[in-house]
This record gives sequence, C-alpha cells and structure tokens, in this order.
Amino acid sequence: MRIPNLFIVRPVALDGAFVDLWVVELSRSHRRSLLGRDDAAIIGGMSERTLAIIKPDAVERRLAGPIIHRIESSGFQIRAMRKVRLTKREAEGFYAVHRERPFFGSLTDFMSSGPAILLVLEAPGAIKKWRSLMGATDPAKAEAGTLRKEFAESIERNATHGSDAPETAAYEIGYFFAGIELV
Ligand code: ATP
Ligand code: MG
Repeated sequence: MRIPNLFIVRPVALDGAFVDLWVVELSRSHRRSLLGRDDAAIIGGMSERTLAIIKPDAVERRLAGPIIHRIESSGFQIRAMRKVRLTKREAEGFYAVHRERPFFGSLTDFMSSGPAILLVLEAPGAIKKWRSLMGATDPAKAEAGTLRKEFAESIERNATHGSDAPETAAYEIGYFFAGIELV
C-alpha cells in the first residue's frame, strides 16, 4: 500500500525488545481515514535480529572470513560478534531443545570441540533471510550457492547455526549477549 504524506519519525528502542520499532506518522487526514482517529501513530517492526554461529568446523578451516563477507554482502548489520570456546555444559544449554535427539551428545561434543564465532545479525526478516543464506541442515540437500552447500562437511559439521523463530532468536541472543553489547 502506498500512503502519501507518510514518514518515519525515528527508531524507538524499547527496553528488552530485540527488534527495533519505528514510529510512522501520518497526516491528520490519513490518520483519521486509516485508523479511525486522528491522534494515533502506526508502530511497526521494520527490522529483526537473529543469532548466527560460525561453528567450530568452519572456524578451524579458516572459513570465518568468507562467511562474514557473505553476511555483510547480503545486507545484514552485525550488531555483535564474539569468538568463544563453548564448554560442553554451555553447548548442552544452548541446544537443550534437542536433548532427546540421538545426536545430542555428539552435537554438543562437536560444538565444544574448538572456537566458534557468535554473531547477532539484523535485517528485515533476518531469521528467514539468514536461514535461506545458510541452506538446508544437511549439505547434501542444500541448494547451490548456500553457505552449507559450499562450506559444510556433514549434517552435523554444517558450518553455521541460525535461530529458527522469533522466540528462539530472543532466547539464543540472550543466552550469549547482554543488551549493552548490541551496537
Ligand atoms: P541449527 O539449529 O544449528 O541452525 P538447523 O536448525 O538447520 O541447525 P536442527 O534440527 O536445529 O537444524 O539441528 C541442530 C544441529 O544439530 C544441526 O545444525 C546439526 O549440526 C545437528 N544435527 C541435526 N540433525 C542431525 C543428524 N541427523 N545427525 C547429526 N547431527 C544433526
Ligand atoms: Mg535449529
């Protein structure tokens, strides 16, 4: 929908929110016709954040540079980035949703086997956008041009991680980063 006289006032940082909100101000007549009152503004999310991890297999093979290059050239803002070596317990906490899966032990051994790089990425539709750039979990099923097709070694050692929904993104970003670290 195109609305004349619509303009963005400013980004609004809400305490604890992980998406930026923007206030959109309409002319008085449009506010009345669209919203049924003339003292309202539209507040909408224009951007989204997701947690990305460059997993130990990719860091070990010196693929962090090419992957970060792809992140930036795809239009993401990097809001935070840190290199860590997860402990087994930290990897188990992070992947707790998978604790009943047969690969849980092996996955958490792998995730704590060497340094990984944690990133908070921001873009409109960041969660879906980053998962499309990564490609399918199993590199054998990943589409050409995706990071996992290009860089993953196997379904487990698959180079990158991405949050799968807004709730998991909020949990995963909060698991590793304090709000003050997101810039
Ligand atoms: P991620 O959560 O790491 O972004 P994903 O969402 O594509 O990956 P999940 O189903 O959440 O896939 O699995 C989490 C991770 O567990 C995978 O990325 C992979 O490293 C590992 N994994 C998934 N399925 C298997 C499997 N069948 N065998 C071994 N490891 C697996
Ligand atoms: Mg997942």
